[in-house]
Amino acid sequence: MTVITRFPPSPTGFMHIGNARTAMFNWLFAKHEKGKMLLRIEDTDRTRHSEEAVQAIYDGMNWLGLSWDGDAVSQFSRSDRHTEVAEALLEKGMAYKCYCTSEELEAMREKAQKEGLPTFYDRRWRDKDENDAPADVKPVIRIKAPLTGETVIEDKVQGKITIKNEQLDDFIILRSDGTPTYMLAVVVDDNDMGVTHVLRGDDHMNNAFRQKIIIEAMGWDTPIYGHMPMILGPDGSKLSKRHGAVSLEDFQAMGYLPEAVFNYLLRLGWSHGNDEIISREQAIEWFTIDNIGHSPSKFDYDKLENLNAHYIKELDNERFSILVQDFWTKLKVPQISEDMLKGFLQLADELKSRAKTLKQAAEESVFLSYSAEYNFEGDALNILTDDALTLLKDLKRSLSGLDDFSTDSVQSACKQFAKENVDGKLGKIGMPLRAAITGRTQSPSVFACASVLGKDEVLRRIDFAIDKLSS
Ligand code: GLU
Repeated sequence: MTVITRFPPSPTGFMHIGNARTAMFNWLFAKHEKGKMLLRIEDTDRTRHSEEAVQAIYDGMNWLGLSWDGDAVSQFSRSDRHTEVAEALLEKGMAYKCYCTSEELEAMREKAQKEGLPTFYDRRWRDKDENDAPADVKPVIRIKAPLTGETVIEDKVQGKITIKNEQLDDFIILRSDGTPTYMLAVVVDDNDMGVTHVLRGDDHMNNAFRQKIIIEAMGWDTPIYGHMPMILGPDGSKLSKRHGAVSLEDFQAMGYLPEAVFNYLLRLGWSHGNDEIISREQAIEWFTIDNIGHSPSKFDYDKLENLNAHYIKELDNERFSILVQDFWTKLKVPQISEDMLKGFLQLADELKSRAKTLKQAAEESVFLSYSAEYNFEGDALNILTDDALTLLKDLKRSLSGLDDFSTDSVQSACKQFAKENVDGKLGKIGMPLRAAITGRTQSPSVFACASVLGKDEVLRRIDFAIDKLSS
């Protein structure tokens, strides 16, 4: 059997990381089994539909490096087929038209609530003669759920789950306006697309029992299910925006690398011994459904940040520079010059070893732009007091005498200056120098920064700080 998995997101406008993990696990399992993963866009809700929201799905998948087989399928484009199956079910006597008015349904809902019933619809049209149908009500089509007995699902993640059929309702498969419900469309599409394995969040576990009714009524094969536990926030509730970033787009904008997010999401719900750092290739080789965790995992933002720092260190400098350039643009660098890039590559190793995110690396290197609007951050301003500016004025004299402006040479000159002026306390001169030439208090080694900028630029920046900030 060729394994065929699917990822069927609804286009919400962003890719929630829970969804991204579902996509990843389906992709990994398909790759591991040398099968296929299909992408289906569940775009039947036309009121909320937009092309940008669909694009966000493709972008998220591409960013994480997840591919799909064949063209993405639009669920909406298949609505005729969904209707055809609903009619086939009517024909087989496995579904029926229900002509209840909204008032009647409301009354049933209230009654069920009062009596604590598991389902509210009282199946009043299940055996009723259609000749009794009111002329002014457009019917919905409901499935005939089994009334007695039990339904069992051997879930690959949750284990064997049994429910009493009396808990199942005669749910709607086709609405009165002729549109299919999720419950019908998903089953028809999975069947027609030849899906063998359905790996999805355990919020769909209950749906699986309902979907099985349709599958069996049509005489189709039931796919193998694996319902994965949800991702929780650090406080144990369902992960949501109030915990922080929740979408791939958020993490991308914060300067996370796809390989770090991939590795983190993989470990968040699946394990291979105690391995923490797992490459894409290893993940494909090792991925089995058996190793998916059975209990929900809490999202740990610090752990993700540490993984990101790890993967940033692993970047080759060329790619590092390309990725950081995007963030410079966001920091309003008007033009990225050759000199800026050259300087960046000289500092790249140190920037990588410091950075938890690409954004941080960009912020710590944006001073390399000669044309960027030159601003001092608040902390830098606090350091650049009148006393500090006076010291810098004197330091400028020593630096201007240097012929060799290498990191070592700048450092020795600063050390000598510190010895003569501030009891050898290098920080007393290093900190103002950093604040003056980078506008910040965080950067790679100030001597390396000065060397990369070059003597003329360092002297110019010291003058600029003195001019702008002396009271
Ligand atoms: N569109 C559904 C969702 O995003 C798909 C559920 C399923 O996998 O059946 O939750």
